[in-house]
Amino acid sequence: MKRIGVLTSGGDNPGLNPCIRAVVRAGIHHGLEVMGIRRGYTGLLSGEVEEMTARSVGGIIGRGGTILGTARCPEFYKPRGRRDALRTLNRFGIEGLVVIGGNGSLTGALELWRAGFPVVGIPSTIDNDVNGTDISIGVDTALNTILDAVDKIKDTASSHNRAFLVETMGRNSGYLALVSGIAGGAEMVLIPEVETKFEEICHTIEDAYVRGKSHCLIIVAEGWRPGTQALARQLVERQEELGFSVRVTQLGHVQRGGAASAFDRLLATRLGAAAVKALISGGGGNIVGWVRSTITLTPLEEAVAFDKQPSPELVELAEIMEK
Ligand code: ADP
Repeated sequence: MKRIGVLTSGGDNPGLNPCIRAVVRAGIHHGLEVMGIRRGYTGLLSGEVEEMTARSVGGIIGRGGTILGTARCPEFYKPRGRRDALRTLNRFGIEGLVVIGGNGSLTGALELWRAGFPVVGIPSTIDNDVNGTDISIGVDTALNTILDAVDKIKDTASSHNRAFLVETMGRNSGYLALVSGIAGGAEMVLIPEVETKFEEICHTIEDAYVRGKSHCLIIVAEGWRPGTQALARQLVERQEELGFSVRVTQLGHVQRGGAASAFDRLLATRLGAAAVKALISGGGGNIVGWVRSTITLTPLEEAVAFDKQPSPELVELAEIMEK
């Protein structure tokens, strides 16, 4: 293998640049040429390919975003789009590909592998829902961003004796809400994976008020139904009996930005270097992961077979701490 490609695809997160840097530098270390593909599968279809050098990834380890750009590419769902992608790979003499992304991007990578192309995936999503890794790139930084906000919201909530609904990202995944709820000392966490009745939520708020707490903080995952705003409207109607007045903060895209944490920089560097090694040694068709503090390989097929759920141990821990 002489020349490999790397792309970032799907949802962005703060660990992408450190990961690109690791792939490029590890590739060069192993005597490979590394081609950067812009805008994920979109650039792969249209041939947006450029050679990367050790210098072209200089100074990016502490920069959020992705220097390659990322995108969602509807054409790639179709065989014709993937044929065009294979043509680009062929045209540029690329013999192996590293795909950095979440479940969707890794499913796309699996399709390329099924078409006979050597590809290794790197799990990178703030949802932490990829199988074959304990933690994906970007999760730790997003959690730290949320905690920073939660601590600040607690200050203002306490000053005014308010209940706050803080919405975190996660359309199908409650991981960020659950872990930031535990680490941020929330009174309650609402996630799509666990059913919670409206009366339970009212009870939690009222109970916090009666016990003399200065605030009540509820972390709500974006994918929880009927949704943060709908819940807020229902709670406002009951405000008199709940004690606290209710406010909402949706953290939104701030969770995807910023410089990667120390943990994410190290994880991204480890997995980026491991992906290159895997490609060289015939490990195509896998994702590299971090399981029990060890680099592992898991077949792409298993990695994307279903969305990983938050562990029951964390769900139980959150319930124990919500006192
Ligand atoms: P993420 O990688 O963050 O989960 P998406 O689910 O949006 O993001 O997927 C990113 C891109 O990966 C899609 O726009 C598409 O190009 C490709 N992709 C996703 N699912 C598939 C699939 N089943 N088959 C082929 N390509 C896919």
